[in-house]
Amino acid sequence: MTRVAFLGLGAIGRPMARHLAPPRFDLIVWNRTSAKAEAFAAETGASTASTPAEVVAGADVVITCLPSSREVEQLLIATDGLLAGLRSGQILVDCTSGDPATSARIAVHLAEKKVDFLDAPVSGGVSGAERGALTVMVGGDARALERVRPVIAAFGSNIVHCGAVGSGHALKSVNNALLAVHIWSLAEGLAALAKLGVSPRTALDVINASSGRSNTSENLFPARVLSRAFPRTFRLALLDKDVGIAAGVARDHKVPSPVLQLTAELFRAAHAEFGEEADHVEAVKLVERWAGTEIA
Ligand code: NDP
Repeated sequence: MTRVAFLGLGAIGRPMARHLAPPRFDLIVWNRTSAKAEAFAAETGASTASTPAEVVAGADVVITCLPSSREVEQLLIATDGLLAGLRSGQILVDCTSGDPATSARIAVHLAEKKVDFLDAPVSGGVSGAERGALTVMVGGDARALERVRPVIAAFGSNIVHCGAVGSGHALKSVNNALLAVHIWSLAEGLAALAKLGVSPRTALDVINASSGRSNTSENLFPARVLSRAFPRTFRLALLDKDVGIAAGVARDHKVPSPVLQLTAELFRAAHAEFGEEADHVEAVKLVERWAGTEIA
């Protein structure tokens, strides 16, 4: 049976790993907070290891799902880190929403050990992960993708090869920058309409029957903003990171990008304001504060 090592049982990593548990694969997990790995193993029949080096030793496929490429690189080079355990012929699939430049560096490190690297960030959110219906954007060698496709298919229903190493991360960052633009611009528009006397619900009903609609207007705002529920499924800190990556990709490639650069600045401000645990949609609260009105 294919042995899969999974590192990073966070909000999205955990439901992804759930689909890899026995009897489907021989799954071994590692998480920085070990209690989470032990609870997961007790529930799913996976096994655990006490260090990253130990968890990857003997695995055919290694999957990481950490906040950013910085943590992936740290885990790679740490004492008892991934590099200490990885062997020729293995493959590392990084499902982190990371950045292309760090991924390129990681791929070079791993190539020295004859370990393949794929960046494979996901979209579809926690609910998509629970349903095993994520979109997976893959950068790297297409033959390496074919080798791990059955593993990725356990949590991904739409697996897309995007190009060379880093291209999955670049595409994911642009997707999330668009999410951020939609959140911010819709909040500004609804706040202005509210002050004018148009109820946000009426405004959303019209927008959602018209050309301004988006997933943000159809799903996020009705369920999370109008209700004031703001559930915590995807941290604002992570969206700030993603928009920053997209803005950096545009700068690196000399694409004039005032909207991306400004959106990155706005989400940096919201992250600084609301902290590490706030949900991404809570950025709306900064628009509301500046406007002196609530979108409810
Ligand atoms: P969480 O913050 O919920 O989880 C982060 C995970 O990384 C935890 O397992 C955490 O361990 C671990 N971790 C954090 N810092 C370190 C470190 N320095 N060394 C080792 N492990 C560390 O994040 P998510 O699961 O939400 O996100 C993971 C990735 O997936 C991110 O890149 C995110 O952008 C992306 N993503 C998230 C989506 C979502 O809806 N949540 C949707 C699509 C992509 P510990 O348990 O010890 O804190």
